[in-house]
Amino acid sequence: MQRRQLLRATGGALLAASLGVGRAASTTAAGRVVIVGGGMAGNTLARYLKLWGRRRVDVTLVDRAPSYVSNIMSSLVLTGQRSLAGLTYSRDALAALGVKLVVDEVTAVDPATPSVTLAGGGTLRADRVVLAPGIAFEPPPGHDETRMPHAWQAGPQTTLLAQQLAALPPGGLVVLTIPPTPYRCPPGPYERVCLLADWLRAHKPGARLLVLDANPGIVVEQDNFSAAFDELHADVLEYRPGVTIDSVDSAGMTLHTSQGPVTADVVNLIPRQRAGRIVTEAGLATANGGRFAPVDVLSYASTAAPAVHVIGDSSATTQPKAGHIANQEAKVCADALLRAFDGLPPDPAPVTNSACFSTITMSEASWLTAVFQYDSASRAMAAVAASSAASEGWSREHFADMDTWFRALMADTLG
Ligand SMILES: Cc1cc2nc3c(=O)[nH]c(=O)nc-3n(C[C@H](O)[C@H](O)[C@H](O)COP(=O)(O)OP(=O)(O)OC[C@H]3O[C@@H](n4cnc5c(N)ncnc54)[C@H](O)[C@@H]3O)c2cc1C
Repeated sequence: MQRRQLLRATGGALLAASLGVGRAASTTAAGRVVIVGGGMAGNTLARYLKLWGRRRVDVTLVDRAPSYVSNIMSSLVLTGQRSLAGLTYSRDALAALGVKLVVDEVTAVDPATPSVTLAGGGTLRADRVVLAPGIAFEPPPGHDETRMPHAWQAGPQTTLLAQQLAALPPGGLVVLTIPPTPYRCPPGPYERVCLLADWLRAHKPGARLLVLDANPGIVVEQDNFSAAFDELHADVLEYRPGVTIDSVDSAGMTLHTSQGPVTADVVNLIPRQRAGRIVTEAGLATANGGRFAPVDVLSYASTAAPAVHVIGDSSATTQPKAGHIANQEAKVCADALLRAFDGLPPDPAPVTNSACFSTITMSEASWLTAVFQYDSASRAMAAVAASSAASEGWSREHFADMDTWFRALMADTLG
Protein backbone atom coordinates (compact mmCIF):
# COMPACT_ATOMS: atom_id res chain seq x y z
CA MET A 1 0.00 0.00 0.00
CA GLN A 2 1.39 3.38 -0.98
CA ARG A 3 1.52 6.32 1.42
CA ARG A 4 -1.33 8.13 -0.32
CA GLN A 5 -3.47 5.01 -0.13
CA LEU A 6 -2.65 4.69 3.57
CA LEU A 7 -3.61 8.29 4.28
CA ARG A 8 -6.75 7.89 2.20
CA ALA A 9 -7.66 4.72 4.10
CA THR A 10 -6.97 6.33 7.48
CA GLY A 11 -8.61 9.63 6.62
CA GLY A 12 -11.51 7.81 5.01
CA ALA A 13 -12.16 5.79 8.14
CA LEU A 14 -12.00 8.90 10.29
CA LEU A 15 -14.24 10.84 7.90
CA ALA A 16 -16.75 8.01 7.56
CA ALA A 17 -16.88 7.75 11.33
CA SER A 18 -17.24 11.49 11.81
CA LEU A 19 -20.14 11.52 9.34
CA GLY A 20 -21.82 8.68 11.20
CA VAL A 21 -21.91 6.43 8.17
CA GLY A 22 -23.95 3.30 8.81
CA ARG A 23 -26.12 4.65 11.64
CA ALA A 24 -29.85 4.88 11.28
CA ALA A 25 -31.19 8.18 12.65
CA SER A 26 -33.69 7.84 15.48
CA THR A 27 -35.06 10.22 18.09
CA THR A 28 -37.17 7.88 20.21
CA ALA A 29 -35.35 6.18 23.11
CA ALA A 30 -33.18 7.75 25.77
CA GLY A 31 -30.26 6.36 27.71
CA ARG A 32 -27.76 7.34 30.38
CA VAL A 33 -24.09 6.43 29.97
CA VAL A 34 -21.30 6.92 32.52
CA ILE A 35 -17.79 6.63 31.06
CA VAL A 36 -14.80 6.06 33.36
CA GLY A 37 -11.56 7.34 31.82
CA GLY A 38 -11.17 10.22 29.41
CA GLY A 39 -8.30 8.91 27.30
CA MET A 40 -8.18 7.78 23.67
CA ALA A 41 -11.13 5.41 24.14
CA GLY A 42 -13.31 7.31 26.63
CA ASN A 43 -13.05 10.72 24.96
CA THR A 44 -13.92 9.26 21.55
CA LEU A 45 -16.90 7.42 23.02
CA ALA A 46 -18.25 10.57 24.73
CA ARG A 47 -17.82 12.58 21.54
CA TYR A 48 -19.50 10.08 19.23
CA LEU A 49 -22.38 9.32 21.61
CA LYS A 50 -23.17 13.04 21.43
CA LEU A 51 -22.48 13.47 17.70
CA TRP A 52 -24.68 10.49 16.85
CA GLY A 53 -27.15 10.46 19.77
CA ARG A 54 -27.44 14.17 20.56
CA ARG A 55 -29.96 15.05 23.31
CA ARG A 56 -31.50 11.62 23.62
CA VAL A 57 -28.38 10.29 25.33
CA ASP A 58 -27.11 11.60 28.65
CA VAL A 59 -23.31 11.25 28.82
CA THR A 60 -21.11 11.71 31.91
CA LEU A 61 -17.34 11.32 31.58
CA VAL A 62 -15.24 10.85 34.74
CA ASP A 63 -11.45 11.26 34.74
CA ARG A 64 -9.08 11.88 37.62
CA ALA A 65 -7.33 14.61 35.60
CA PRO A 66 -8.90 17.77 34.14
CA SER A 67 -7.03 17.38 30.82
CA TYR A 68 -5.57 14.49 28.83
CA VAL A 69 -1.84 13.98 28.20
CA SER A 70 -1.21 11.93 25.06
CA ASN A 71 1.04 8.89 25.32
CA ILE A 72 1.30 8.91 21.55
CA MET A 73 4.38 10.98 20.57
CA SER A 74 5.56 11.09 24.21
CA SER A 75 8.85 9.29 23.44
CA LEU A 76 9.77 12.43 21.45
CA VAL A 77 9.67 14.32 24.77
CA LEU A 78 12.72 12.24 25.80
CA THR A 79 14.71 13.61 22.86
CA GLY A 80 13.46 17.18 23.37
CA GLN A 81 11.48 17.18 20.10
CA ARG A 82 8.04 17.52 21.77
CA SER A 83 6.87 18.89 25.12
CA LEU A 84 4.32 17.48 27.54
CA ALA A 85 2.51 20.84 27.39
CA GLY A 86 2.19 20.38 23.62
CA LEU A 87 0.76 16.89 24.17
CA THR A 88 -1.86 18.09 26.70
CA TYR A 89 -5.45 18.25 25.43
CA SER A 90 -8.50 19.98 26.93
CA ARG A 91 -11.93 18.33 26.97
CA ASP A 92 -13.73 21.66 26.37
CA ALA A 93 -15.04 20.56 22.97
CA LEU A 94 -16.73 17.55 24.64
CA ALA A 95 -18.39 19.85 27.19
CA ALA A 96 -19.61 22.04 24.30
CA LEU A 97 -21.34 18.96 22.84
CA GLY A 98 -23.18 18.45 26.15
CA VAL A 99 -20.93 15.84 27.79
CA LYS A 100 -20.99 16.26 31.60
CA LEU A 101 -17.39 16.26 32.81
CA VAL A 102 -16.53 15.06 36.32
CA VAL A 103 -12.94 15.36 37.59
CA ASP A 104 -12.64 12.62 40.21
CA GLU A 105 -11.16 9.19 40.89
CA VAL A 106 -13.53 6.25 40.45
CA THR A 107 -12.86 3.92 43.36
CA ALA A 108 -15.34 1.13 42.62
CA VAL A 109 -17.74 -0.20 40.01
CA ASP A 110 -20.94 -2.09 40.77
CA PRO A 111 -21.61 -4.11 37.61
CA ALA A 112 -25.12 -5.12 38.75
CA THR A 113 -26.69 -1.67 39.26
CA PRO A 114 -24.68 -0.48 37.17
CA SER A 115 -23.00 2.41 38.97
CA VAL A 116 -19.63 3.84 39.95
CA THR A 117 -18.39 5.27 43.25
CA LEU A 118 -16.39 8.50 43.32
CA ALA A 119 -13.48 9.21 45.71
CA GLY A 120 -14.95 12.67 46.26
CA GLY A 121 -18.17 11.10 47.52
CA GLY A 122 -21.32 10.02 45.77
CA THR A 123 -22.38 7.42 43.24
CA LEU A 124 -23.18 7.79 39.55
CA ARG A 125 -25.88 5.44 38.20
CA ALA A 126 -26.51 4.77 34.52
CA ASP A 127 -28.19 2.44 32.05
CA ARG A 128 -24.71 1.47 30.87
CA VAL A 129 -21.28 2.02 32.44
CA VAL A 130 -18.29 2.04 30.09
CA LEU A 131 -14.83 1.45 31.56
CA ALA A 132 -11.89 2.98 29.67
CA PRO A 133 -9.18 3.36 32.34
CA GLY A 134 -6.19 2.30 30.20
CA ILE A 135 -3.62 0.11 31.95
CA ALA A 136 -2.12 -0.63 35.35
CA PHE A 137 1.45 -1.81 35.90
CA GLU A 138 2.74 -5.03 37.49
CA PRO A 139 6.22 -3.98 38.64
CA PRO A 140 8.83 -6.62 39.54
CA PRO A 141 9.80 -6.94 43.24
CA GLY A 142 11.97 -4.03 44.35
CA HIS A 143 11.05 -1.70 41.49
CA ASP A 144 11.07 1.98 42.52
CA GLU A 145 9.73 3.98 39.58
CA THR A 146 11.29 7.18 40.92
CA ARG A 147 14.72 5.56 40.29
CA MET A 148 13.86 3.51 37.17
CA PRO A 149 10.98 5.28 35.41
CA HIS A 150 8.74 3.44 32.93
CA ALA A 151 7.52 6.60 31.17
CA TRP A 152 4.76 4.39 29.70
CA GLN A 153 2.02 6.72 30.95
CA ALA A 154 2.87 10.21 29.73
CA GLY A 155 3.38 12.69 32.58
CA PRO A 156 5.87 13.06 35.45
CA GLN A 157 7.52 9.73 34.56
CA THR A 158 8.32 11.06 31.08
CA THR A 159 9.88 14.22 32.54
CA LEU A 160 11.95 12.16 35.00
CA LEU A 161 13.34 9.85 32.31
CA ALA A 162 14.18 12.85 30.10
CA GLN A 163 16.10 14.43 33.01
CA GLN A 164 17.99 11.20 33.73
CA LEU A 165 18.98 10.83 30.08
CA ALA A 166 20.15 14.46 29.94
CA ALA A 167 22.35 13.78 33.00
CA LEU A 168 23.85 10.52 31.61
CA PRO A 169 27.64 10.56 32.15
CA PRO A 170 29.99 10.24 29.14
CA GLY A 171 30.21 6.63 27.99
CA GLY A 172 27.26 5.71 30.23
CA LEU A 173 24.96 2.71 29.89
CA VAL A 174 21.18 2.97 29.37
CA VAL A 175 18.98 -0.14 29.72
CA LEU A 176 15.45 -0.38 28.34
CA THR A 177 13.31 -3.39 29.27
CA ILE A 178 10.37 -4.64 27.16
CA PRO A 179 7.56 -6.52 28.97
CA PRO A 180 5.87 -9.71 27.72
CA THR A 181 2.87 -9.27 25.42
CA PRO A 182 0.13 -8.16 25.59
CA TYR A 183 1.22 -4.63 26.47
CA ARG A 184 0.24 -1.09 25.40
CA CYS A 185 1.49 -0.15 21.90
CA PRO A 186 3.35 -3.19 20.47
CA PRO A 187 5.85 -1.15 18.35
CA GLY A 188 6.25 1.51 21.07
CA PRO A 189 9.29 0.12 22.94
CA TYR A 190 11.13 -0.68 19.69
CA GLU A 191 10.54 2.78 18.26
CA ARG A 192 11.73 4.32 21.56
CA VAL A 193 14.87 2.18 21.31
CA CYS A 194 15.58 3.51 17.80
CA LEU A 195 14.90 7.08 18.83
CA LEU A 196 17.15 6.85 21.91
CA ALA A 197 19.95 5.15 19.93
CA ASP A 198 19.91 8.03 17.44
CA TRP A 199 19.78 10.63 20.25
CA LEU A 200 22.63 8.99 22.23
CA ARG A 201 24.81 8.91 19.12
CA ALA A 202 24.24 12.65 18.58
CA HIS A 203 24.34 13.87 22.20
CA LYS A 204 26.21 11.32 24.35
CA PRO A 205 29.33 10.07 22.52
CA GLY A 206 30.44 6.64 23.71
CA ALA A 207 27.13 5.85 25.44
CA ARG A 208 25.52 2.42 24.92
CA LEU A 209 21.90 1.22 24.92
CA LEU A 210 21.11 -2.32 26.07
CA VAL A 211 17.62 -3.68 25.30
CA LEU A 212 16.28 -6.57 27.40
CA ASP A 213 13.18 -7.99 25.72
CA ALA A 214 11.04 -10.50 27.67
CA ASN A 215 9.62 -11.73 24.35
CA PRO A 216 11.41 -14.32 22.20
CA GLY A 217 12.00 -11.69 19.50
CA ILE A 218 10.78 -8.37 18.10
CA VAL A 219 6.97 -8.65 18.31
CA VAL A 220 5.91 -6.40 15.41
CA GLU A 221 7.27 -4.82 12.20
CA GLN A 222 10.24 -7.21 12.37
CA ASP A 223 11.76 -6.27 9.00
CA ASN A 224 12.14 -2.57 9.73
CA PHE A 225 13.15 -2.89 13.38
CA SER A 226 15.64 -5.73 12.68
CA ALA A 227 17.29 -3.68 9.95
CA ALA A 228 17.43 -0.66 12.25
CA PHE A 229 18.84 -2.66 15.18
CA ASP A 230 21.34 -4.79 13.21
CA GLU A 231 22.64 -2.16 10.80
CA LEU A 232 21.65 1.46 11.42
CA HIS A 233 22.05 1.52 15.22
CA ALA A 234 24.48 -1.40 15.72
CA ASP A 235 27.26 0.97 16.91
CA VAL A 236 25.16 2.05 19.94
CA LEU A 237 22.67 -0.74 20.51
CA GLU A 238 22.69 -4.29 21.85
CA TYR A 239 19.40 -6.25 21.66
CA ARG A 240 18.88 -9.34 23.86
CA PRO A 241 15.59 -11.25 23.40
CA GLY A 242 14.11 -13.68 25.93
CA VAL A 243 15.35 -11.85 29.06
CA THR A 244 12.93 -11.50 31.98
CA ILE A 245 13.34 -9.26 35.03
CA ASP A 246 13.06 -11.33 38.23
CA SER A 247 13.71 -8.56 40.78
CA VAL A 248 15.26 -5.13 41.05
CA ASP A 249 17.78 -3.42 43.34
CA SER A 250 16.56 0.09 42.60
CA ALA A 251 19.05 1.84 44.92
CA GLY A 252 21.94 -0.03 43.29
CA MET A 253 20.51 0.51 39.76
CA THR A 254 20.75 -3.26 39.22
CA LEU A 255 18.31 -5.59 37.45
CA HIS A 256 18.35 -9.26 38.43
CA THR A 257 17.45 -10.94 35.15
CA SER A 258 17.03 -14.48 33.82
CA GLN A 259 20.54 -14.02 32.35
CA GLY A 260 22.21 -12.59 35.46
CA PRO A 261 22.57 -9.10 37.00
CA VAL A 262 22.78 -5.93 34.90
CA THR A 263 23.78 -2.55 36.37
CA ALA A 264 23.29 0.68 34.43
CA ASP A 265 23.34 4.48 34.78
CA VAL A 266 19.77 4.93 33.48
CA VAL A 267 17.10 2.21 33.46
CA ASN A 268 13.84 2.64 31.55
CA LEU A 269 11.97 -0.29 33.10
CA ILE A 270 8.63 -0.86 31.33
CA PRO A 271 6.76 -3.32 33.59
CA ARG A 272 4.28 -6.00 32.65
CA GLN A 273 0.77 -4.59 32.17
CA ARG A 274 -2.83 -5.35 33.05
CA ALA A 275 -6.25 -3.67 32.86
CA GLY A 276 -6.90 -0.52 34.91
CA ARG A 277 -7.41 -1.23 38.63
CA ILE A 278 -11.18 -0.66 38.64
CA VAL A 279 -11.66 -3.30 35.92
CA THR A 280 -9.72 -5.88 37.92
CA GLU A 281 -11.42 -5.02 41.21
CA ALA A 282 -14.86 -5.34 39.58
CA GLY A 283 -13.89 -8.93 38.74
CA LEU A 284 -14.01 -8.33 34.97
CA ALA A 285 -10.35 -9.04 34.08
CA THR A 286 -10.46 -12.77 33.51
CA ALA A 287 -8.54 -13.11 30.20
CA ASN A 288 -4.76 -13.23 29.58
CA GLY A 289 -4.07 -14.86 32.95
CA GLY A 290 -6.50 -12.58 34.80
CA ARG A 291 -5.03 -9.39 33.35
CA PHE A 292 -7.50 -8.00 30.77
CA ALA A 293 -11.30 -7.96 30.35
CA PRO A 294 -12.95 -10.25 27.79
CA VAL A 295 -15.67 -8.49 25.78
CA ASP A 296 -18.19 -9.13 23.01
CA VAL A 297 -16.52 -7.15 20.22
CA LEU A 298 -19.90 -6.36 18.61
CA SER A 299 -20.65 -3.98 21.52
CA TYR A 300 -17.65 -4.20 23.91
CA ALA A 301 -20.03 -5.44 26.63
CA SER A 302 -18.14 -7.35 29.30
CA THR A 303 -18.75 -11.09 28.91
CA ALA A 304 -19.26 -11.19 32.71
CA ALA A 305 -21.50 -8.11 33.14
CA PRO A 306 -23.70 -7.12 30.17
CA ALA A 307 -24.48 -3.57 31.41
CA VAL A 308 -20.76 -2.78 31.71
CA HIS A 309 -18.63 -2.24 28.60
CA VAL A 310 -14.82 -2.18 28.46
CA ILE A 311 -12.97 -0.35 25.68
CA GLY A 312 -9.37 0.61 24.96
CA ASP A 313 -6.29 -0.98 26.48
CA SER A 314 -8.20 -2.66 29.35
CA SER A 315 -10.15 -4.93 27.02
CA ALA A 316 -8.89 -8.30 25.79
CA THR A 317 -9.37 -8.52 22.03
CA THR A 318 -7.33 -9.70 19.05
CA GLN A 319 -6.59 -6.06 18.15
CA PRO A 320 -3.44 -4.26 19.36
CA LYS A 321 -3.56 -2.07 22.46
CA ALA A 322 -3.17 1.21 20.59
CA GLY A 323 -4.69 4.69 20.65
CA HIS A 324 -5.95 4.39 17.08
CA ILE A 325 -7.67 1.09 17.93
CA ALA A 326 -9.06 2.57 21.18
CA ASN A 327 -10.65 5.30 19.03
CA GLN A 328 -12.14 2.66 16.70
CA GLU A 329 -13.43 0.44 19.52
CA ALA A 330 -15.12 3.50 21.04
CA LYS A 331 -17.04 4.15 17.81
CA VAL A 332 -18.23 0.53 17.58
CA CYS A 333 -19.29 0.77 21.24
CA ALA A 334 -21.08 4.13 20.71
CA ASP A 335 -23.03 2.72 17.79
CA ALA A 336 -23.96 -0.43 19.75
CA LEU A 337 -25.12 1.60 22.78
CA LEU A 338 -27.32 3.88 20.69
CA ARG A 339 -28.80 0.88 18.89
CA ALA A 340 -29.42 -0.83 22.26
CA PHE A 341 -31.26 2.27 23.53
CA ASP A 342 -33.42 1.98 20.38
CA GLY A 343 -34.06 -1.70 21.14
CA LEU A 344 -31.90 -2.81 18.21
CA PRO A 345 -29.08 -5.40 18.07
CA PRO A 346 -25.52 -4.22 17.35
CA ASP A 347 -24.05 -3.99 13.84
CA PRO A 348 -23.25 -7.67 13.05
CA ALA A 349 -20.17 -6.89 10.90
CA PRO A 350 -17.97 -4.16 12.40
CA VAL A 351 -14.65 -3.24 10.77
CA THR A 352 -11.82 -1.40 12.54
CA ASN A 353 -8.46 -0.15 11.36
CA SER A 354 -5.17 0.93 12.87
CA ALA A 355 -2.37 3.02 11.44
CA CYS A 356 0.90 3.32 13.27
CA PHE A 357 4.05 5.31 12.53
CA SER A 358 7.35 4.32 14.20
CA THR A 359 10.30 6.64 14.66
CA ILE A 360 13.43 4.91 13.33
CA THR A 361 15.63 7.98 13.82
CA MET A 362 14.94 11.47 15.18
CA SER A 363 13.81 12.57 11.69
CA GLU A 364 12.66 9.38 9.89
CA ALA A 365 9.74 7.02 10.43
CA SER A 366 8.26 3.77 9.10
CA TRP A 367 4.57 2.85 9.08
CA LEU A 368 2.28 -0.10 9.60
CA THR A 369 -1.45 -0.43 8.98
CA ALA A 370 -3.94 -3.18 9.80
CA VAL A 371 -7.65 -3.75 9.18
CA PHE A 372 -9.81 -6.02 11.35
CA GLN A 373 -13.18 -7.51 10.43
CA TYR A 374 -15.66 -9.37 12.65
CA ASP A 375 -15.45 -13.13 12.17
CA SER A 376 -18.71 -14.72 13.28
CA ALA A 377 -17.15 -18.21 13.62
CA SER A 378 -14.54 -17.15 16.20
CA ARG A 379 -16.61 -14.14 17.42
CA ALA A 380 -13.37 -12.14 17.25
CA MET A 381 -11.93 -9.32 15.15
CA ALA A 382 -9.81 -11.06 12.49
CA ALA A 383 -6.93 -9.29 10.74
CA VAL A 384 -7.63 -8.80 7.01
CA ALA A 385 -4.26 -9.71 5.48
CA ALA A 386 -5.01 -8.14 2.08
CA SER A 387 -5.65 -4.75 3.70
CA SER A 388 -2.68 -4.78 6.09
CA ALA A 389 0.75 -3.47 5.14
CA ALA A 390 4.03 -2.00 6.38
CA SER A 391 6.40 0.47 4.74
CA GLU A 392 9.55 -0.86 3.11
CA GLY A 393 12.08 1.02 5.18
CA TRP A 394 11.73 4.50 6.61
CA SER A 395 11.92 8.09 5.40
CA ARG A 396 11.61 11.77 6.30
CA GLU A 397 8.37 11.89 4.33
CA HIS A 398 6.82 9.23 6.59
CA PHE A 399 7.99 11.26 9.62
CA ALA A 400 6.03 14.27 8.28
CA ASP A 401 3.00 12.04 7.58
CA MET A 402 3.15 10.84 11.21
CA ASP A 403 2.37 14.38 12.38
CA THR A 404 -0.60 14.63 9.96
CA TRP A 405 -1.97 11.27 11.17
CA PHE A 406 -1.53 12.25 14.84
CA ARG A 407 -3.30 15.60 14.45
CA ALA A 408 -6.22 13.93 12.61
CA LEU A 409 -6.54 11.22 15.28
CA MET A 410 -6.52 13.69 18.19
CA ALA A 411 -9.04 15.98 16.45
CA ASP A 412 -11.30 12.98 15.85
CA THR A 413 -10.95 11.88 19.49
CA LEU A 414 -11.43 15.19 21.30
CA GLY A 415 -12.99 17.55 18.72
C1 LIG B 1 5.29 5.84 24.50
C2 LIG B 1 3.98 5.44 23.87
C3 LIG B 1 3.78 5.65 22.51
C4 LIG B 1 2.57 5.28 21.93
N1 LIG B 1 2.40 5.48 20.57
C5 LIG B 1 1.25 5.12 19.98
C6 LIG B 1 1.07 5.32 18.58
O1 LIG B 1 1.95 5.82 17.87
N2 LIG B 1 -0.13 4.95 18.03
C7 LIG B 1 -1.14 4.41 18.77
O2 LIG B 1 -2.19 4.13 18.21
N3 LIG B 1 -0.98 4.19 20.11
C8 LIG B 1 0.18 4.52 20.72
N4 LIG B 1 0.34 4.32 22.07
C9 LIG B 1 -0.71 3.58 22.83
C10 LIG B 1 -1.83 4.49 23.29
O3 LIG B 1 -1.35 5.58 24.03
C11 LIG B 1 -2.82 3.70 24.16
O4 LIG B 1 -3.14 2.50 23.51
C12 LIG B 1 -4.09 4.49 24.40
O5 LIG B 1 -3.80 5.65 25.14
C13 LIG B 1 -5.14 3.65 25.10
O6 LIG B 1 -6.29 4.42 25.32
P1 LIG B 1 -7.16 4.18 26.64
O7 LIG B 1 -8.29 5.15 26.52
O8 LIG B 1 -7.43 2.74 26.82
O9 LIG B 1 -6.20 4.61 27.85
P2 LIG B 1 -5.59 6.06 28.18
O10 LIG B 1 -5.44 6.85 26.94
O11 LIG B 1 -4.39 5.81 29.04
O12 LIG B 1 -6.73 6.76 29.06
C14 LIG B 1 -7.11 6.26 30.31
C15 LIG B 1 -7.70 7.41 31.11
O13 LIG B 1 -8.39 6.86 32.25
C16 LIG B 1 -8.15 7.67 33.38
N5 LIG B 1 -8.39 6.83 34.56
C17 LIG B 1 -7.85 5.60 34.80
N6 LIG B 1 -8.35 5.08 35.94
C18 LIG B 1 -9.22 5.99 36.44
C19 LIG B 1 -10.03 6.02 37.62
N7 LIG B 1 -10.06 5.00 38.49
N8 LIG B 1 -10.79 7.13 37.84
C20 LIG B 1 -10.76 8.18 36.97
N9 LIG B 1 -10.01 8.19 35.84
C21 LIG B 1 -9.24 7.11 35.58
C22 LIG B 1 -6.73 8.17 33.19
O14 LIG B 1 -6.51 9.38 33.90
C23 LIG B 1 -6.67 8.38 31.66
O15 LIG B 1 -7.01 9.70 31.28
C24 LIG B 1 1.53 4.70 22.71
C25 LIG B 1 1.73 4.50 24.09
C26 LIG B 1 2.93 4.88 24.66
C27 LIG B 1 3.14 4.66 26.14
